[in-house]
Amino acid sequence: MIKIDDYIPVVGQAVIDDLKRVSEKLKDKKIKNINSTPVGGGVAEILSRLVPLLNELGVLTYWDVIKGGKSFFEVTKKFHNAIHGKKEEINKKDFEIFLEVSEENISQMLVDEDIIFIHDPQPIALIKKKKDNRWIWRCHIDASNPDKKVWNFLKKFIINYDAAVFSAPAFSSPLPIRQFLISPSIDPLSDKNRELSKEEINAVLKKYGILKDKPLITQISRFDRLKDPIGVIEVYKKVKKNIDCRLLLAGGTAVDDPEGMEVYNEVLEKTKHDKDIIVLNMQHNDLEINALQRASDIILQKSIKEGFGLTVTEALWKAKPVVASNVGGISLQITHKYSGLLCYSIDGAAFAVKQILNNPKYGEKLGQNGREHVRNNFLITRHLKEYMLLFLSLYYKGDINNI
Ligand code: UDP
Repeated sequence: MIKIDDYIPVVGQAVIDDLKRVSEKLKDKKIKNINSTPVGGGVAEILSRLVPLLNELGVLTYWDVIKGGKSFFEVTKKFHNAIHGKKEEINKKDFEIFLEVSEENISQMLVDEDIIFIHDPQPIALIKKKKDNRWIWRCHIDASNPDKKVWNFLKKFIINYDAAVFSAPAFSSPLPIRQFLISPSIDPLSDKNRELSKEEINAVLKKYGILKDKPLITQISRFDRLKDPIGVIEVYKKVKKNIDCRLLLAGGTAVDDPEGMEVYNEVLEKTKHDKDIIVLNMQHNDLEINALQRASDIILQKSIKEGFGLTVTEALWKAKPVVASNVGGISLQITHKYSGLLCYSIDGAAFAVKQILNNPKYGEKLGQNGREHVRNNFLITRHLKEYMLLFLSLYYKGDINNI
């Protein structure tokens, strides 16, 4: 069990003292987070660390997950893609399915806590149950250029919240409610990110039969078209023409992402004739993901669209050179040629990978700069403080003594 004081060696005593001071102000409040999957993807990843730490700080925090079948999650995946600006065929029936399943959740879920913190569009309609408590809608998606039809549908719910939270300035949009900018974070002490011994890393490589006799290029991501696994394979093929290397595509699926298996099978089909491509369906083993990231020479994140891109944060924290598309929150994390390399195409990504493989010292420097950037901006301690200040601000009526 990780304790809040365990973070002192990573971020310093003053940061932890600050967290304890702010948490005192929230001792009488109960908070409930609601999202659509207990594992898989960045939202579940963050909640699994924030919720226990808030409780340890004395802020009573719960986490509940809505229920929805295949057809509901097919619709919400279309919403997800459409908010990211992808063209999706969404018809009247889709909206009806969304509303029907939302009504079931509305009738079953208890939302009496002081603050209800709703993550992403799937549970957004629960706001119909709002009484005199405070409600926050947290958008983890790049909503800078959303499909109008879907956004206008969601907006009818959003405007009834007390506040909305976005991950990057570009993701916000005109709304008649208060908006906050809070970027996601990683937990440096979790199994996903803690330091690992050589033995721990080697045991994972051995388990999956991954040899380290050639450079290893890795993308860790859900099998999702917006993560562009097929593009990653193209990048690898271009690099391979000049430098012998291996590609690792490791990912899992999430209950709220019904496309996962289909994309996974597509990737398997495309890669079955190349022994140097390893495709793993991981089923959420944090320590193993950590080991694979640490064992890699370069981490790729060739997303077509991205919310924040926690996999980039995780790789930078491990001081890995990262080659990533300049989309969504990735540009908040990587300064081109300083803390990683940004790319815009398959050719660009392949060029960047070769540049690093040909000059490992350069890759090392990028990785070290990336790690410091994460230390200063994207660790969970900063996130905890900003969320607690957000909670407090919901009760702020203009008089500082009223907080
Ligand atoms: N992840 C994982 N296992 C997998 C694939 C991804 O644990 O097989 C984790 C990954 O390490 C990261 C999160 O899921 O913590 C993905 O977050 P990100 O913001 O990169 O993308 P999202 O899936 O939310 O679009």
